[in-house]
Amino acid sequence: MTKKQFRAESKRLLDLMVNSIYTNKEIFLRELISNASDAIDKIYYKALTDDSLSFNKEDYYIEVAADKDNRILKVSDTGIGMTKQELEENLGVIANSGSLAFKAENAGKDGHDIIGQFGVGFYSVFMVAEVVTVISRALGSNEAYKWESKGADGYNIEQCEKSTVGTDVILKIKETTADENFDEYLEEYQLKSTIKKYSDFIRYPIRMEVSGT
Ligand code: ADP
Ligand code: MG
Repeated sequence: MTKKQFRAESKRLLDLMVNSIYTNKEIFLRELISNASDAIDKIYYKALTDDSLSFNKEDYYIEVAADKDNRILKVSDTGIGMTKQELEENLGVIANSGSLAFKAENAGKDGHDIIGQFGVGFYSVFMVAEVVTVISRALGSNEAYKWESKGADGYNIEQCEKSTVGTDVILKIKETTADENFDEYLEEYQLKSTIKKYSDFIRYPIRMEVSGT
C-alpha cells in the first residue's frame, strides 16, 4: 500500500498544528464534536425530503470515549459517514486551504490568530494526537474505510469493518513531556468541562465513557 501525500498547502497547516505552542489545544474537541453534529444534521435533512429514510431521534448521538491506559480518545457519531472518496477529499486536503495556509503562515509562530479567528477544523487534532484514525461507513454503503495519519508524512486508506453507518475518529494522544501535559485530554473532568465550554449548544446527546486509571 502506498502512502498518499497531503497537498502542499495542507502540509503547511499540518506543520503549524503539530508544532503549535498554542495554549487552547482543547479546541480540537470542539472541532470533532461540531463535525459529528454536522454529520447527523446531514442525515436529518436528508430524512426530511427522502421518504425511504426516517429519523428516530434516539438513534442519533455523539460519543466521547477515553481509554486512559492506552491513551486513546475516540469521538464517534451516527451521522452520514464518508465514502472512500469523501475520506480522501475531505480529510486529505483543507477546504480553501490556499488562503487558510497563507493566513496561518502569517499568523506568527504560535498560530494564535489563525486558531482563534477561524474554525481550523479537523486538522486541529494533530495538536494533541500522534496518530489519527478515522473509520467511517457512509449512509447507503455496506463498505467501511479506515483513514490513518501521523501528520506531515501523509495518510493511508484501507477497507475495514464497521457494522453501523457513521464515523469514529480515534486519537492516540501524545505522551506528556516535561514541557507539556497531554493527560488532561483523557480525564473525564477535563473532557466534560471542555464540552460544556465549547459544545453546550450541540443539539444531539453527547455521551461520555472513560476507562482506565
Ligand atoms: P469543516 O467542518 O469546516 O467543513 P473540517 O476540517 O472540520 O472542516 O472537516 C472537513 C470535512 O470533513 C467536513 O466538511 C466533512 O465533509 C468531513 N467530515 C469531518 N468529520 C466528519 C464526520 N464525523 N462525519 C462525516 N464527515 C466528516
Ligand atoms: Mg468542522
